[in-house]
Amino acid sequence: MKIFFQFLSFSLLIMQCASVKTPTAETITKLQSVEETSDILFTLASDDMKGRDMLNGGYDMAADYVKTYFKSHGIAPFLSSGYDDNFILNEMSAYNIVGRLGKYDPKKPTVLIGAHLDHIGINTGSTDSIYNGANDNASGSTAVLQIAKVLSKYKWDQNIIIALFAAEEKGLLGAKHLAEKLKEDGVELQMMINFEMIGKTLTTGANQVYMTGFKLSDFSDKINQFAPNFVTFLPEAEGYNLFKRSDNYAFYETFKVPCHTLSSFDFKNYEYYHKAEDEFEKMDIANMNQIIRTATFAIGQMLRTKTTATMRD
Ligand SMILES: [Zn+2]
Repeated sequence: MKIFFQFLSFSLLIMQCASVKTPTAETITKLQSVEETSDILFTLASDDMKGRDMLNGGYDMAADYVKTYFKSHGIAPFLSSGYDDNFILNEMSAYNIVGRLGKYDPKKPTVLIGAHLDHIGINTGSTDSIYNGANDNASGSTAVLQIAKVLSKYKWDQNIIIALFAAEEKGLLGAKHLAEKLKEDGVELQMMINFEMIGKTLTTGANQVYMTGFKLSDFSDKINQFAPNFVTFLPEAEGYNLFKRSDNYAFYETFKVPCHTLSSFDFKNYEYYHKAEDEFEKMDIANMNQIIRTATFAIGQMLRTKTTATMRD
């Protein structure tokens, strides 16, 4: 009888291990609470962060917050020198923050998940002088941190790099720098997923994002297999060529693989783009958290099933 129970508990242990191979919707709901998403967004978009500009020290504060978050969730630096990926911006030193999940293995394909952390700082000429950039892009940065936290608890057959970019607002300079560095280091980039402005609800519906460069690859078909109707097409994104206007573009230019931005800013649902009033209080936190949960689940499933997007001709 005792042997039988030992065998039973051993079997249960095996079954438990098997069942935790990929994050389930239940696990994700538990790990990504609305409260924590709200806390991260509130912190990154607070006045203390001075609009997350490199020149006034605000970016450094936001970067320190990100690094502390990485450390507390066991997300190691990608570079041997540490989290900072340094480059020169207008004769000043600047840096992206780059972490990795698990051990880097050059034989494995690499997936990069990122968002720009910087914003446009303080404009002393106006009454509300701090440009908090809650939607642009504290929201996308929050998504990347919350996704990384969940994915870091699992083992993957891909290298997963987590990047928060500097100097997006100065011309995608941080992303360009990291893309070139990864290329030089021989990293086999398979896909880049970028998050930009996910704090408002798309006019077409809740728990949805559109993707830039929609027609360039089959990424939306692939991810929507795991989250039907999650990634949609926005005609304005094509009209304004948003594909070239965020950090995904630098990676596409360098690697010519599917690199897309997911966003829920559709030009009709938010009037405070690049205004001082882009603040925490105006965000649809519950919807934003739902987007983060859905993205985490679908990306986890894509990675686990080795579902890869490919460029269209
Ligand atoms: Zn932005």
